[in-house]
Amino acid sequence: MQLYKEQKLKITNSLTGKKERFKPINEGHIGMYVCGPTVYSNVHLGNCRTFMSFDMIFRYLRHLGYKVRFVRNITDAGHLVDDADEGEDKIAKKARLEKIEPMEVVQRYTVDFHKILEQFNFLPPSIEPTATGHIIEQLEIIKEILNKGYAYEVNGSVYFDVKKFSESFEYGKLSGRKLEDMITNTRELTAQSDKKSPQDFALWKKAEPQHIMRWPSPWGDGFPGWHLECTAMSTKYLGDTFDIHGGGMDLKFPHHECEIAQAEASNGLSPVNYWLHANMLTLNGKKMAKSTGNNILPGEIFSGENPILSKPFAPAVVRFFMMQAHYTSILDLSNDALLASEKGYHRLMDAFDNLGDLVTSGKSDFNVQEWQQKCYDAMNDDFNTPTLIAHLFEAVKHINLIKEGSESITLADKELLQQSMNSFIFDVLGLEGKSADYQDSDKLQAVVQLLIELRNEARSNKDFNTSDKIRDQLSAMGIQLKDGKEGTTFSVS
Ligand SMILES: [Zn+2]
Repeated sequence: MQLYKEQKLKITNSLTGKKERFKPINEGHIGMYVCGPTVYSNVHLGNCRTFMSFDMIFRYLRHLGYKVRFVRNITDAGHLVDDADEGEDKIAKKARLEKIEPMEVVQRYTVDFHKILEQFNFLPPSIEPTATGHIIEQLEIIKEILNKGYAYEVNGSVYFDVKKFSESFEYGKLSGRKLEDMITNTRELTAQSDKKSPQDFALWKKAEPQHIMRWPSPWGDGFPGWHLECTAMSTKYLGDTFDIHGGGMDLKFPHHECEIAQAEASNGLSPVNYWLHANMLTLNGKKMAKSTGNNILPGEIFSGENPILSKPFAPAVVRFFMMQAHYTSILDLSNDALLASEKGYHRLMDAFDNLGDLVTSGKSDFNVQEWQQKCYDAMNDDFNTPTLIAHLFEAVKHINLIKEGSESITLADKELLQQSMNSFIFDVLGLEGKSADYQDSDKLQAVVQLLIELRNEARSNKDFNTSDKIRDQLSAMGIQLKDGKEGTTFSVS
């Protein structure tokens, strides 16, 4: 029997603001869409957290036995610098600044995105469609919305008519905004704007002669509005109404609100049953922003090359750190928080490694079955990973007591514990084994050995500048050299 039949999942639905019993449209199957990255720069750690939350959700749904079709797109066109449909396309701008083709920008940062996600041990989505690969589908939706009278064409661009839409549908239901308030609070249209009203948003933008990313359309050469691609790709692969749509909190408005409006305007159907929003990651208590320098890239954490860090941290440790907060809570990253997570991560992995060697006996002091259900209860309660981790540490405590001989466990309980910990740690939380952070340890040994030899040569040549440089730079990377009678040894902290 599939686990989902006995484990009843509840999900916080942003659309209703309530925690609801999850019921998929087709029993045993789930369609899930998550807004992917705009590939014009290296993936941001905050974005990694959002994607990681949905990776964990994908993993847990699969663990429960659901067949999940998980679609996460790549935005490679249409995302403008300014949310009010003005300004340049982010990818075209980068291409212009670097004097390369837009598709080179897309390729470079798509590769970076995949590399980082792989280091974090993400499962690949079932489908990863691109906006440029779905221009025809986007044009079809625009035609449909125009036919229904919820859009208008001006001067080669097509805009969604929010006021008209609001006469029959509720615009603002996801973000809890009222159209009247939006009208009073939005800035005036600029003189050159073609929109009837500032709330309207672009479905299709006319391409000026200098705009490099352009496609033919019934309204002339242009490019799709950013919100449209997600409507086109989600409904193409998951149907007009599907189960779960996720994304970062910052996408709720206008992006997701516009997705709902586009879908409802084109076919009258509400596109998504459960909207899930992941919260942001702050750095040392402040919002991360490239402009203020309060920013860190995933690669800088793995190498330790950022002034806020005292040392490098393995991807699995960063993942464990992120899983220690609920996906809907703000999480603050700092050197101290990572150090604490690293300790916890090793404690958990050590206990898991010791579990196999525990001596069993005729009775258990640890009710493993009850503990296992508590782990499921935590995950069934809107994917509460911090509570799950607290339960995992309860198991760690018992494992250590059994190892010391102060408690005992039966063989059946030990096997159940092993199997459950394996599922929760690796399958659900997606943490890699302890060996993961030392996966290149053979190569590391050889490289450090070579550096020790070079340092010895430098010392015998009285080139103390070089020998000190080797020792100090290794130390900065967390590799300590120790000179003893038997020669030089090293340790990795
Ligand atoms: Zn989207």
